[in-house]
Amino acid sequence: MVHEWALAEAIADYLQGLMRREGREGFRRAVIRLGTLQSIDREVLRFSLTEVLKYRGVAVEELVFRDEEAVFRCRRCGATWTLKDLDIGDDVREAMHFIPEVIHSYFKCPKCGSRDFEVVRGRGVYIEEAVFK
Ligand SMILES: [Zn+2]
Repeated sequence: MVHEWALAEAIADYLQGLMRREGREGFRRAVIRLGTLQSIDREVLRFSLTEVLKYRGVAVEELVFRDEEAVFRCRRCGATWTLKDLDIGDDVREAMHFIPEVIHSYFKCPKCGSRDFEVVRGRGVYIEEAVFK
């Protein structure tokens, strides 16, 4: 809960700053990307962001949330892959969503078998698009 509210404040800060800088009335649409390895409750975030924006007087007609797919890169051979490339069950996906740290114990590089890999995408949260009214 705390995490989502803090995130909502940060997103609202950005949108408010942008709106003031450009001297606009508000936004028609804002698109927010959420990394699939982030343990964010989307509905809680939507609710808190809506509240924070209202409180700050930043009008956003449409709030869109999209997934940013996780991408991994092997430190040994340099191969990159996504979760779709691996044969993993939904229960594991769910576990990874809540505890990103478990990824190293669940899988390894599909090319060379190394467990020494890094997450290159899928942990971030960013505003992909903000369209003024
Ligand atoms: Zn590898």
